[in-house]
Amino acid sequence: MVRFMNVTKRYGTLTVLDRLDLDVAEGEMVTVIGPSGSGKTTVLRMLMTLETINGGVIYVDGKPLTHMEKGGKLVPANERYLRKARSSIGMCFQHFNLFPHMTALQNCMEGPVQVLGMSKSEARARSEELLEMVGMIDKKDQHPSRLSGGQQQRVAIARALAMRPKVMLFDEVTSALDPEVIGEVTNVIRQLVAEHNLTMLMVTHQMGFARDISDRICFFYQGKIEEEGPPEQLFETPQKERTQQFLSAVK
Ligand code: ATP
Repeated sequence: MVRFMNVTKRYGTLTVLDRLDLDVAEGEMVTVIGPSGSGKTTVLRMLMTLETINGGVIYVDGKPLTHMEKGGKLVPANERYLRKARSSIGMCFQHFNLFPHMTALQNCMEGPVQVLGMSKSEARARSEELLEMVGMIDKKDQHPSRLSGGQQQRVAIARALAMRPKVMLFDEVTSALDPEVIGEVTNVIRQLVAEHNLTMLMVTHQMGFARDISDRICFFYQGKIEEEGPPEQLFETPQKERTQQFLSAVK
C-alpha cells in the first residue's frame, strides 16, 4: 500500500533519508522507532507531501505520490496533483490542531464536506459514527477548548478517519498528553488496529505500546532502516549492535 523506493531527503548538506526502501502492506501496522534525529518524522512528512523529495519515488496504493506520469515518464508532481494525492493520507500528530472555533462534530464534518464534496447529512452521519467509535459522541457539540488533551486527540483521530484515508499516520500522538489520558488514546488506536483493516504507519517513543500493536517494527538509524522485524523478534532478540544499544537505553 505504501512504498518508498530509494528515497533520499536532504536539508542543505544534511542527508536525513538515505536511499530508503520501505514497504507497508495493506492492513499492516508498522511502527518506526529510533534515536532522535534518525529521520522518523521525516518519513511521515514525506508521505504528507509536505516536503520535496531529493531522490527516489513514493507510491501509495500503486500510484506515485510524489510524482506524476507525463508522456510515459515520472516527473515531479505539481501542487494540484499533490493536493489530490494528499487526500488519501490521514494524519494525527502530537499537537492535534483541531479548528478551535468549531465543535468536535463540525471538526469531523469539515473535510468531507469541503474537500470530498460530501453532503452535510452524509458527513454528519459518518462523523457521528466515528465520534461514537472513539468514545466522544457525548461531547460532539463541545469546542476543543472544553476538552482534555486525550479527548482532543480522539476527536483528531475521528476527524482524520472521516476523510476515508487509505493510510493513517500517527506521529507521537501521546507525547503531549498527561500520563492519565494516554491510555484512552492508545486504546482507540488499538481498536483501529484490531477492528479495521487500515494501513498505518506510526512513530512513537512508547516501546510497550509499539510492541503491543505493531505487525512490524522498523528501527531507524541515520535515515536508513538498520533492522526490522516482528515486535517480539526485534525487542527480544535484536541482531544489530545499534538496535541493542538503543533498546537498552530506552528501557
Ligand atoms: P525525534 O525523535 O527527535 O522527533 P526524528 O527521528 O523524528 O527525531 P526528524 O524530525 O525526522 O527526526 O529529523 C531528522 C533530521 O532532520 C534532524 O537532524 C533534524 O534536525 C533535521 N530536520 C528536520 N526538519 C528540518 C528542516 N525543516 N530543516 C532542516 N533540518 C531539518
